[in-house]
Amino acid sequence: MAEHKDSKAAVLYFKPKSINRKGGARCGACWKFISAPGACLEVIGDIKAGGVCGLYVNGVPHKSMLEHPWRITRVTKEEAGYSDEGDTHCVGCKFMAIPGDARSACEEVEGLVEQEGCCNEHEHR
Ligand code: SF4
Ligand code: SF4
Repeated sequence: MAEHKDSKAAVLYFKPKSINRKGGARCGACWKFISAPGACLEVIGDIKAGGVCGLYVNGVPHKSMLEHPWRITRVTKEEAGYSDEGDTHCVGCKFMAIPGDARSACEEVEGLVEQEGCCNEHEHR
């Protein structure tokens, strides 16, 4: 158990209604994902539908590359915290103390966290 826990704001804790996917956060459920080819509006490189990063925002992905007027300085996978292993949520995270409970303490984050919430400290159990 960590002696000092992070605030939810510090780890970008998203409540279930913001993750908005029962199976957890993944690129295929993020509005910045481009399905064919697997790519992202904000993150450089090949991106998998089953991956995820810290910049996840739920929404409907784009079917293909789109012409758009915004200038976007894309960031590396390392900067975004990208992983090929998505479907991240507290219930699947090794830090949720009692994953069988809808709300539970977390070893890393202050207060109670929710099974279908998630944060940037997520690690698969
Ligand atoms: S890499 Fe991050 S921002 Fe891009 S589609 Fe995946 S979750 Fe969304
Ligand atoms: S259980 Fe994991 S994903 Fe959920 S708040 Fe704690 S560290 Fe973050």
